[in-house]
Amino acid sequence: MEGRSKLQNQLQQLVEKNRRWTSKGKVATYIPELGKADPSILGISVMDMHGNLYSAGDYKQKFTLQSITKVITLMLAIMERGMEVVFEHVGMEPTGDPFNSIVKLETTSPSKPLNPMINAGAIAVVSLLEGTPDERVERILRLIRQMTGNPNITYNGRVYHSEHQTGDLNRALAFFLRNHGVIHGSVEEHLEVYFKQSSIEMTTEDVARMGLVIANEGKDIMGKEIIPSSVVKIAKAFMVTCGMYNASGEFAIRVGIPSKSGVGGGILSVVPGKYGIGVIGPALDDKGNSIAGIKLLEDLSSIYHLTIFN
Ligand code: GLN
Repeated sequence: MEGRSKLQNQLQQLVEKNRRWTSKGKVATYIPELGKADPSILGISVMDMHGNLYSAGDYKQKFTLQSITKVITLMLAIMERGMEVVFEHVGMEPTGDPFNSIVKLETTSPSKPLNPMINAGAIAVVSLLEGTPDERVERILRLIRQMTGNPNITYNGRVYHSEHQTGDLNRALAFFLRNHGVIHGSVEEHLEVYFKQSSIEMTTEDVARMGLVIANEGKDIMGKEIIPSSVVKIAKAFMVTCGMYNASGEFAIRVGIPSKSGVGGGILSVVPGKYGIGVIGPALDDKGNSIAGIKLLEDLSSIYHLTIFN
């Protein structure tokens, strides 16, 4: 990308151009607190390898990361337990089903979740972190604070309670997994960690900073290693194959940037060796991805040739 003001103006124009898409989507209401989000919001931040940050639209808006945290906890679990243990409990394949689907758990054998980016897989991953729920949440937060360089990041208590109260489908997934010996111990404790990690809150600027660490093979902009590059490599592969739920294939073709979305409307995107990108647009399409956020990334990718499939 070129000079500062050019990119800044470009982002501004792309937000203005794509904001109309927000009216075509719907905010998630199955977690009542998320239903309060303003559907017309659209914002983006891009951070380059020098640490320059470019933002436009509603980039000051805080939102909960939701499924975006699945990437972070996966990396933490691999760092703490090793790749072998993690992938004994969760697979590496896309599902083609919605993120909260239970169907493949029963039809595949053994019934371990197909990948760590769907709810069942993410619950299996948090079950592998050792310690009390508080200790586990603290370690997730510590990693996120390191990646963002923002010590104030925490979870949103109202969203957490809302998820906890209405999380019966996730509860069902977790009990199913325990019945089949994929997870062990207290389901409620694993879910507490899962719901709290989902409720971690930040702005697109923080998301762009997290993205930059992934884009920079696990190092911050000063070159300090936060995550081993071998672990980051796994995360990026999952972002490509499963990061946008059952829309990952189309997204790879249209946008081609490793990304992970959440039902809060956020998207974490990573252009390896170049940019960390954060997007917010709470109005979702029928797959649960930010409808205007995807359009915005599609434009950005095509203007600056950001696809990794060149
Ligand atoms: N916490 C949310 C849930 O389990 C995360 C889902 C998502 O972002 N797709 O329903």
